[in-house]
Amino acid sequence: MAKSDEIGGDPGPDIARSLERLGRIMRAAEHDGGLNPAQWEGLRYLGRANRFSNSPGALTRYLGATKGTVSQTLKALERKGFIAKSARPGVQRSIILTLTAKGEKALAGDPWNSLATIAEELGGKTRRRLAKGLQEVLNGALRKGGLRRFGSCPDCRFFREKGRPNDPSEPHSCMLFDAGMAPSELHRICVGYEPA
Ligand code: SF4
Repeated sequence: MAKSDEIGGDPGPDIARSLERLGRIMRAAEHDGGLNPAQWEGLRYLGRANRFSNSPGALTRYLGATKGTVSQTLKALERKGFIAKSARPGVQRSIILTLTAKGEKALAGDPWNSLATIAEELGGKTRRRLAKGLQEVLNGALRKGGLRRFGSCPDCRFFREKGRPNDPSEPHSCMLFDAGMAPSELHRICVGYEPA
């Protein structure tokens, strides 16, 4: 198969160039639907965050952005009706961010979904290797930038599978937050995550 103009045969730089071009293409598509790229990032994060991570502080850590920038983004999302803010019960000055029905609907039309579909169409082995390789590249970039790695319960050191066998609705447990976890929550991303 002929090489495309994008591929020069030097894998590291090739990967970086492909990621740059993909990012540019996807960001260009993020100006539709009344949102900008920063607002899409906030919306997407809230669509994936667990109940310990749906706060402005956790979003700030995830994005590695400044508090002021994230605050402006959240204000815009709230003003446009994509998210709602409420007080976190029992925790002073802590806010819960939730997607509204309008936010959920916007996410269903996320321009990045088209990239996910293209990735899904790759062969199983290629897809699994790509996912693993990209995760390793991302972890390296996070380490270098001093940014926090977000992950989910199944490979977190604080997770105890079936830690609460007598609780049918939340049979698993989190040792960090001292809380029960429902099966539906396990694959959401978490600010407290630490690899096992
Ligand atoms: S087990 Fe880890 S990922 Fe799951 S809620 Fe607790 S800290 Fe977060």
